[in-house]
Amino acid sequence: MRLDNRSAIVTGSARGIGKAIALRFAGDGAKVTVNYVTQREKAEAVAADIRKAGGEAIVVKADVSKRAEADRLVGETIKAFGKVDILVSNAGIIIDKPFVDSTAEDWTSAIETNLHGFFNVCQAVLPHMMSRKFGRVIATGSCINEIADFGGNKYSVCTASKGGIAMMLRPIAAEMARHGITVNSVSPGYIATEMLGEIDPAGLEAALHLVPMRRYGKPEEIAAAMAFLASDDAAYITGQTLRVNGGMSMGG
Ligand code: NDP
Repeated sequence: MRLDNRSAIVTGSARGIGKAIALRFAGDGAKVTVNYVTQREKAEAVAADIRKAGGEAIVVKADVSKRAEADRLVGETIKAFGKVDILVSNAGIIIDKPFVDSTAEDWTSAIETNLHGFFNVCQAVLPHMMSRKFGRVIATGSCINEIADFGGNKYSVCTASKGGIAMMLRPIAAEMARHGITVNSVSPGYIATEMLGEIDPAGLEAALHLVPMRRYGKPEEIAAAMAFLASDDAAYITGQTLRVNGGMSMGG
């Protein structure tokens, strides 16, 4: 299997895209840390599914917006599996609101969870990966970085947070290249998860017309791209964003 003997942390993996990544990585042979912040039972269920299929998993509650919790997430993974080979920085939130209606609280929660969360988990894991001269860091980006007008949904505040990840991962990738560590992102289009329940339904319908394939993506389709970037097959790919969006960035 492509991820045999690897140890992986997937943030926000109790449900949605993160859950699909955790199950895929475990199916490919990795030991997986399932992370959650509110949904303990769902996180335990993901770990139970992995164990039932013969894999290894631990569950760690950690709010990625807090540095100390990101450190603990990495520490508990090293304690359980001896190392961290792969970090998927996937935890995130969405806010669908016109810019002029967005509040300071919206701004803070988007930046703290999405961008500061990426900063925290990278800071927590990279010294460990550097000492081992191996690592794969993959962020879950977003199509909101590539499209400004979805025909209804409005994401200015969250775009700042996801855009920050997209810009920062390139210089991090450049710094890490000499240490055997790759840093990439997968940029999903509209993927059928609970998150789509948090945005305006009319906007959701309108956005589908921007997708040449005329369907929402499946979490497993994001997980497949993540598995590739985490594998040895992607050893010479760094600083890149892989779009998995049914052709959305080309327009409808
Ligand atoms: P969901 O809302 O289904 O899941 C979000 C996950 O993030 C949950 O597991 C949640 O934990 C976790 N999370 C939220 N805040 C924190 C935090 N502070 N610390 C740790 N974990 C946290 O969303 P998706 O699966 O759809 O989204 C996953 C990623 O994909 C996000 O980064 C999102 O921006 C991105 N994305 C999604 C798209 C889509 O269409 N669905 C499109 C483009 C990007 P818990 O379960 O414990 O609450």
